[in-house]
Amino acid sequence: MAWPRTSRHARGYGTAHDKMRAHLLATVILCEECTRRGRVTPGHIADHIKPLAQGGTGDRSNYQLLCQDCSDAKTLAEKGQTARGATDASGFPTDPTHPWNRARHA
Ligand SMILES: [Zn+2]
Repeated sequence: MAWPRTSRHARGYGTAHDKMRAHLLATVILCEECTRRGRVTPGHIADHIKPLAQGGTGDRSNYQLLCQDCSDAKTLAEKGQTARGATDASGFPTDPTHPWNRARHA
């Protein structure tokens, strides 16, 4: 999936981030979210557990290694959306075909 991108550096992704990513790839190896869910998936994205935009730091303790799927899902969750699309004010997906909506519209 492609998302609108601003400058990597503007978002706080500089040389230190690249070094941290290389460190995580070499030491963590697997997607940490998948590991928590009992899946074994190679990770390749250095994720800020708490986004920089929300006051997260570039410390090792604020980093986790994720796969693309988990990174996308986390990014969407942070935007208040589901993988299927936007949500309404109560947090339900607005997509009528979303599984959560089948019961409500049945
Ligand atoms: Zn994953």
